Order: sequence, then C-alpha cells, then structure tokens
Amino acid sequence: MAGHAVSGDRVVVVGGGPAGLSAAIELRIRGVRHVTVVEREQQAGGVPRYTAHFGYGWRDLRRLTTGPRYAAALVEHALHHGVELRTGSTVTGFGFPSADATTVELATESGPEELRAAAVVLATGVRERPRSARLVPGDRPAGVYTTGSLQQLVVLHHQRVGTRAVVVGAEHVSFSAVLTLAHAGCSVAAMVTPLPQHQTYRALALATAGRRRVPVRTEVDVAEIVGHRRVEAVVLTDGTRIDCDTVVFTGGWVPEYELARRAGLAMTPGAKGPMVDAALHTGQRGLFAIGNLVHPAETADVCALDGRDVARSVLDWLTLHQWPDAIEPIEVEAPVAWATYHSRGITLRVDEFVHGRLRLTHGGEVQWISTPQTWVPNRSITIRSGEMRTTSRPFADHRLRLDVLR
Ligand SMILES: Cc1cc2nc3c(=O)[nH]c(=O)nc-3n(C[C@H](O)[C@H](O)[C@H](O)COP(=O)(O)OP(=O)(O)OC[C@H]3O[C@@H](n4cnc5c(N)ncnc54)[C@H](O)[C@@H]3O)c2cc1C
Repeated sequence: MAGHAVSGDRVVVVGGGPAGLSAAIELRIRGVRHVTVVEREQQAGGVPRYTAHFGYGWRDLRRLTTGPRYAAALVEHALHHGVELRTGSTVTGFGFPSADATTVELATESGPEELRAAAVVLATGVRERPRSARLVPGDRPAGVYTTGSLQQLVVLHHQRVGTRAVVVGAEHVSFSAVLTLAHAGCSVAAMVTPLPQHQTYRALALATAGRRRVPVRTEVDVAEIVGHRRVEAVVLTDGTRIDCDTVVFTGGWVPEYELARRAGLAMTPGAKGPMVDAALHTGQRGLFAIGNLVHPAETADVCALDGRDVARSVLDWLTLHQWPDAIEPIEVEAPVAWATYHSRGITLRVDEFVHGRLRLTHGGEVQWISTPQTWVPNRSITIRSGEMRTTSRPFADHRLRLDVLR
C-alpha cells in the first residue's frame, strides 16, 4: 500500500525495465499519487524478461533468481503498489511548457498522446552494438545476432538458431550468449576478442565456455562474414577462417540515448548516456536519468537500486522545486574510458588491461585511492560514496578527476 500522498502531480517513468519499475514502486511507496511507467514493448520487465538464467536480484530483492522471474516479480510489485503501466507505448519526445512541467509525447496503438508530468525519470536502458554499427565487411547473410536478439529468439519465441556459432566478444554477456546457444543446441566454435584476455570472472568462464571446451581467441577480431543466404564462415583479422552458420555480436553497449538527446541533455563523454549528478538530476529541470541508460552496463540490481534512490530526489524536486545550476562531468584520463555517478557512488570503465592504483582527485587533492591491482576492461568498477573522503552526495558543484597511477 502506498503511504500518504505528497503530491497530486504525475511522475512519468520512461522504460519499464528493472530501473524504471523500481523507481515507480519506490515513488508510490513514498506517497506519489500518480506514477505512470511507459514501456514500448507489450510487456514490462526490460532485458531480464529474456535472459533465462540465474544471476538476478541479489542486491535489491535479497535473493538470486532467473531473469524472467525477476522481471515478473518487479511487474507484480509495481501493480500491487498501484503503478500505472502503459505498455505498447513509446515516448517520442518532450515539451517544456513551464519551468516546473514537462509534457511527454507518446506514440500509442490508438495514436499520439500527451501526458503532463511534474517529473520524468528516463530509464530507457542500453542495447548492444549490432554488426551494422561495427562496420564488419562481407556478405549480409542470415544468422547474425546480438546477444539480446539471440535471447529474444530463443527464450521468448522458442525459435531454433544454427548449429555452430562464433561469439564476438569475451565479456560477461558473451558467456551468457554461450549458455543460450548451448540451450538452443548450437555449439560454439570460438569466442573472439581483440583484447589479450577474456574479461569475465574465471569461475563464470569455466562454468560456461570452459566446460564446453570453447576456445577463446584473443587479440583478433572479425574481419569478414562469408555466406550467401546463411552465414558460412567468419574470417578473422589474422587470416583464420572459422566455418560456422551463426555469429553473435556481444557487448559493445550503447545507451538508448535518442530521447535524452532530443531533450537536449549533455552526454557523458565515452559512456554516451546523459550526464547526471550524484542525485541523478540531468541538465534539464524535472528530468532524471537512471539505470543502464546512464552507465552502460551494470547488473540489473544496481539499476534497480538507482531506481529506488532516484525516488528521494524526485520527491525533493516535487516539494522544494530546486534544481542544480549545472551538472559537471567527472574528468578522466586514459586508460579510464568514462566515469559517471550512480546512486551509490561513481562507476567507471577502463579500456585496456592496466595495473596500478586508481585515483580520484578533486582540485589536486586525493579523495580516494585504490590498492595496486589489475583493472579489467568491460568490467564494472565502482567507488562507493562512503569510501570517498567527502561522503553523501559529494561534489555536486565541482569537477572530479580519475586516473591510474601505474
Ligand atoms: C544477455 C544478458 C545477460 C544478463 N545477465 C544478467 C545477470 O545475470 N544478472 C544481472 O543482474 N543482470 C544481467 N544483465 C543486465 C541486466 O539485464 C540489465 O542490467 C538491466 O536490464 C538494466 O535495466 P534498465 O532498467 O536500466 O534497462 P532495460 O532492462 O534495458 O529496460 C529499459 C526499458 O526501456 C524501454 N524503452 C526504451 N526506450 C523507450 C521509449 N522511448 N519509450 C518507452 N519505453 C522505452 C525498453 O523497451 C526496455 O524495456 C544481463 C544483460 C544481458 C543483455
């Protein structure tokens, strides 16, 4: 049951994945009367709806479950708490008729519509870079997927894929693709990564690719895809040809940022999601951003915690009508690829294997420094707010800087 109403105003959440649903649930629990989640798919739940393996819910639900069960639990909680779910509706843009109101433009099955909102939470998630965006030359045959499209085909539509695949990438999600292919009866001829090692946990690599004796080919990439109607082979940058009928491009996360751009928001360089401060405000009054849209890509429970935490900031906005003057980026120096706030601190990525001490400074003063260790690309690195010298939503008005002391 929701608590006492603090506002008759509507909050619109764009995107019904773990981040958006968790934000909506928390807003209702905290007493916001009208909370609408707009989701373009026919069902809410986001990516976990079709990632049919364990690994979901640890930090937010305090139990481990599968993707589809996790998504179903969040949808059930949302309905139980009185969240309005508008599925099959896509948010196409925003208007800002006054300093304290936003109009949300929807494309619905029955035509265009507008919702007036006192606050909007953007939670549109990420997608993987498909073959077209990676500019891989060669033929254009059938049998080329991303992990997401592969899992939708196998888990939601119970379709068969091929019999022998090459997986491009060797990060967490790439090993999830190996599992899905195995469940679909498709063997994996090789995983391919331009980096010198795979980028997942040893245990996960062993449990998925290792036990199926899948070779991980390092320091090579796909140079060409060969095949007329169906994939017949891939050619690697070292000239090796691998016969296969399926290619899965994994990772290479790109935030679903079109809407954020249309709203005129500044983007975090490198991450390409909207820039936020520690309280998840964007540069536009009334617009918040959370989840993998902001930090491509964290686990679902981290996104769900963003959702819970943004509710407090939304409530502050609805009651106090105060907005920060500027949203400052966190400056980074290579090999730090990007850094952004999320609800519990700062998350960042490096773009090469590097050994050293990761250091966060502010005006030359060290706020946090790690022990010397090897930092792995494509893997989440988090600095919790409590570990930094200034705690609790720090630095909203200042620039932080991250680098690696080798
Ligand atoms: C293969 C794979 C395996 C994974 N395995 C795990 C795992 O084991 N454990 C784990 O914790 N995490 C895992 N993840 C990550 C997890 O799925 C994500 O962290 C989580 O889904 C991110 O939540 P989100 O709400 O930010 O975005 P999403 O889940 O992507 O949800 C965003 C939603 O916004 C909707 N949307 C986008 N644009 C619009 C628009 N304009 N209008 C309306 N709706 C819109 C989308 O349709 C989507 O439903 C995995 C991901 C993948 C791809």
